[in-house]
Amino acid sequence: MISKKMENMVKNGSAIRAMFEEGKKMAEKYGAENVYDFSLGNPSVEPPIEIKNAINEVLESYKPNYIHGYMLNPGYEEVRDAIAKNINKRFGTNFAAKNIVMTVGAAGGMNVIMKSLLNPGDEVVVFSPYFGEYRSYASNFDAKIVEISPDTSSFQPKLDEFEAKLTDKARIVIVNSPNNPTGVVYSEETIKKIAAILEKKQKEFGAPIYLLSDEPYRELAFDGVEVPYLTKYYNNTIVGYSFSKSLSLPGDRIGYLVIPDEAEDSENIISAAGVATRILGFVNAPSLAQLFVSKCLDAKVDVEIYNRNRELLYNALLEYGYECVKPEGAFYLFVKALEPDDKAFVAKAKEHRLLIVPGSTFGCAGYVRIAYCVDYEMIKRALPEFKKLAEEYGK
Ligand code: PLP
Repeated sequence: MISKKMENMVKNGSAIRAMFEEGKKMAEKYGAENVYDFSLGNPSVEPPIEIKNAINEVLESYKPNYIHGYMLNPGYEEVRDAIAKNINKRFGTNFAAKNIVMTVGAAGGMNVIMKSLLNPGDEVVVFSPYFGEYRSYASNFDAKIVEISPDTSSFQPKLDEFEAKLTDKARIVIVNSPNNPTGVVYSEETIKKIAAILEKKQKEFGAPIYLLSDEPYRELAFDGVEVPYLTKYYNNTIVGYSFSKSLSLPGDRIGYLVIPDEAEDSENIISAAGVATRILGFVNAPSLAQLFVSKCLDAKVDVEIYNRNRELLYNALLEYGYECVKPEGAFYLFVKALEPDDKAFVAKAKEHRLLIVPGSTFGCAGYVRIAYCVDYEMIKRALPEFKKLAEEYGK
């Protein structure tokens, strides 16, 4: 008999994963080239060549009990040192190895920091639409998700509502920019306003509110748009970074947390994050991945490939009569469904062998997410189906 909590989790499942499974079945039935799977954020661009070279280099420099041994829970000292120096070089910050905790991707990092900070009943504030897994992560620690409703005209955070909904139970506010599912990037001005609200509220409540910057898409930004580094605007910022998308390594499960000295109770949080890494069962982030990514911190995937997909799909969908805020980063389009019920619209799209994800999964009904981290040729083949789908709705 499984636990009550897991019963719910299994029942609600993940709509994205379900769609991915469905895609596989449809490919068997219709042929893979006739199914247009835009459901999963699985990077389509190959990891840069530096990764393969670094893996070989690490393996060749084998030292007994080093690559394969247990280590300190936060990870290899020299890896964390290299990451801290790289962040300092890029963003003018002042971190040291001790501020970095290596994690099992962003998902691992978020669970580690939530385990470290949350008491049951605490609130985790999110801006809709948001990555639906945050609900599960908060639930892991019996915390409550507080949603700020979406501003569908821009998908920028609704700051008045944010201020009004912050209570003395708010312990973590999550921002994710470039955003999954909208692709929007929060400007420096927006970040400053969020920071000012948080400063005011934590003074009022006499307790810290931590801003958790979930950053798997930091490097995937287009048209030269700046993605501000949040620790520079608000002391109680913790960064959750991941190499899953930035270097196309989602299966390697590698990322890190940045816990700055300036964050209130920083030393205790750093210690707690190490212990949380251990007791959540990770023990430490994968050793080989730590070592090879630390040699590739300036490597990049070819973002132009995603940009080309974005331009093709965005322009075509607009032409067919769809509505969408043009994304500035990540690899998703968040498109208004052509009927109020996003799930019904997703089902209609499936009749055209188009696999997309309902916006309600992201706390924003009436929209759908289209992941364009796919082959350019598949997008070209799918466009006539998007057109026919729009025509069915009289567009
Ligand atoms: N946060 C967001 C916004 C994501 O989109 C994802 C993955 O898609 C994650 C976190 C988890 O990423 P990781 O593979 O690094 O655990």
